Amino acid sequence: MRRPKARSRARSPSPAKRAAGAPVVTLIGGDGVGPEVIDAALAVIGATGVEIEWDRQTAGAYAVKRFGTPVPDALIKSLKRTRVALKGPLETRSGEGYRSINVYLRKTFDLYANLRPTLSFAGVQTPFRNIDLIVVRENTEDLYSGIEHVVARGVVESIKVITARASRRIARFAFEYARRHKRKSLTAIHKANIMKLSDGLFIRCARGVAKEYPEIKYREQIVDAACMRLVTDPSSFDVLLLENLYGDIVSDLCAGLVGGLGLVPGANYGDKGAIFEAVHGTAPDLAGKGTANPIAAILSGAMMLDYLGYAGAAAAIRTATGKVLRSGRVLTGDIGGKATTAAMTAAVIAALGSNR
Ligand code: ATP
Repeated sequence: MRRPKARSRARSPSPAKRAAGAPVVTLIGGDGVGPEVIDAALAVIGATGVEIEWDRQTAGAYAVKRFGTPVPDALIKSLKRTRVALKGPLETRSGEGYRSINVYLRKTFDLYANLRPTLSFAGVQTPFRNIDLIVVRENTEDLYSGIEHVVARGVVESIKVITARASRRIARFAFEYARRHKRKSLTAIHKANIMKLSDGLFIRCARGVAKEYPEIKYREQIVDAACMRLVTDPSSFDVLLLENLYGDIVSDLCAGLVGGLGLVPGANYGDKGAIFEAVHGTAPDLAGKGTANPIAAILSGAMMLDYLGYAGAAAAIRTATGKVLRSGRVLTGDIGGKATTAAMTAAVIAALGSNR
């Protein structure tokens, strides 16, 4: 993975100027509220002064309408070329045999690690304070392997696939993250008391990897008990390590602790590339209304900037969003305000400017 050199501090160049060697990133607006929140992220990234050449592509329901396929060849070619994408949510229709594009992209590019940093924001009212959780979710197997069949009329089977290789590499990713970011503990979450073989293997692999990281306190917790404890004593957790399905569910629960899906960013990492996307889905109830919260997409953009080596710009975005949320003056409806997506985006850009 080629990474451009970081600039020490992002400043605003003229918009028309394209830096030689600006990184090329695939941009997928997505479905539902996707294009609205991705536009917001683009505007904020642009305001940091980091220059990126965006390769705009379509996918999902919008691509089905335009090109008759949810994954056009041009998109795959672009991702193979750029190996980095910023993406809005994509619609997956339930029960229609319509393949999940998210799962497809993660598997095709072997983006095995899903990372969702979930932080409390001063100014956002929730019953919980000082949440600082890192959710690490395995992205390529488990019940999301898509192996399902009809056994007999009225009887279906879904196969849960867990391998030692994928379990060890996600555990290693989580421990490496914990080590790099000086986190204190890591909890592997499972249901090995019932799924003795599959979750049993996952947890044995996590235990094995844990031995290589003696400075990080390793614990295990059964998923149902972990959910209860996450809402009664969230600060007892630090880094969470989960299989694909539990990770999907528990990360939404964690988003709820800090004020909702509109606030939590996400990234899917592989050894050769990464796709950055908010935790939330297409939010069809809000699509086209200009009222979706853009913060999750903006913070996903900041994670992308970190990955590309623009740590200064990424930090500036995080500071600016924190300022806007703390002031409480410009908030979207999901976090108790009345502001539009555009107004909140403008507030973040103004806060970026005032940081300088
Ligand atoms: P999908 O099927 O694509 O997952 P969904 O509506 O089932 O879509 P989400 O989009 O993840 O699931 O979100 C559930 C609800 O959370 C939405 O209906 C919306 O009310 C709220 N929500 C999600 N994202 C946002 C956002 N960015 N801003 C405000 N509210 C949001």
